[in-house]
Amino acid sequence: MESWNLKYKTKCYNCGKIVDQIIEIYPNQAFVKCSNCGATRYYILKTVEIDKGNIIEEEKDKKRKFDNWLLEKEAKCYNCNTLYIQDILITESGMYVRCRNCGFARYYWFHMMEIPNK
Ligand SMILES: [Zn+2]
Ligand SMILES: [Zn+2]
Repeated sequence: MESWNLKYKTKCYNCGKIVDQIIEIYPNQAFVKCSNCGATRYYILKTVEIDKGNIIEEEKDKKRKFDNWLLEKEAKCYNCNTLYIQDILITESGMYVRCRNCGFARYYWFHMMEIPNK
C-alpha cells in the first residue's frame, strides 16, 4: 500500500532548526523525520473508527508540551474510496488522520524516537 507523504516546516524538537519535517503515513504506521538531523519519530496504528464527532477539532487546541501540527492532504480514503481532504493532526503523543467525507479516523500512537549518531 502506498504511503501519503507530506512536509511540514517547523522547529525540530531535536536539532532546533526550522526545517522541513518529512511525514509518511501508511495504513498501519507513520513516521516523522527531520530533513536536517534525521531524528525520526515512529507511530503505530492504535485505533480505527468512523468518527461521528470530530476528533481533530477536539484535539487540535489542547495544550501540550510541543506545538500541535495541523495539516491537510487530498488523498484517497481507505474507507469511502473517495479522493477527499484528509485532516491530519500530529501531537507529541500521537497522530490523528480523519477523512472529511466519511469521518473515517485513524489514531496512531507514538512508539519511539530514533536519533541518528553523527
Ligand atoms: Zn532536526
Ligand atoms: Zn472517507
